[in-house]
Amino acid sequence: MAITISVFVAVMIVFAIAAKMQAEVNARGGCPKCQTPVPRYRKPSSFRQAFFGGWMCENCGTEMDRKGSKLAPE
Ligand SMILES: [Zn+2]
Repeated sequence: MAITISVFVAVMIVFAIAAKMQAEVNARGGCPKCQTPVPRYRKPSSFRQAFFGGWMCENCGTEMDRKGSKLAPE
C-alpha cells in the first residue's frame, strides 16, 4: 500500500513539474521561432527529450529545451 502511494505521489509530482514547465514556456511565447504554444503532454521524440524534458514544435519542428530555448542542431 505504501508503495502504491509513493508511485502515485511521484507521478503527480512529474505531472506538476511538466505543467509548470509548459506554463513558463508558453508565458514566454511558446516556440522561439513561430510562437506556437507547446502542448502539456508531449510525445518525446528522442531519449534526450524523454529524459531531460523539452519539446518539438508541432508547427515548425523546432526543438526546444525544457525552458523553451531553441536547441542548437546536434
Ligand atoms: Zn515553431
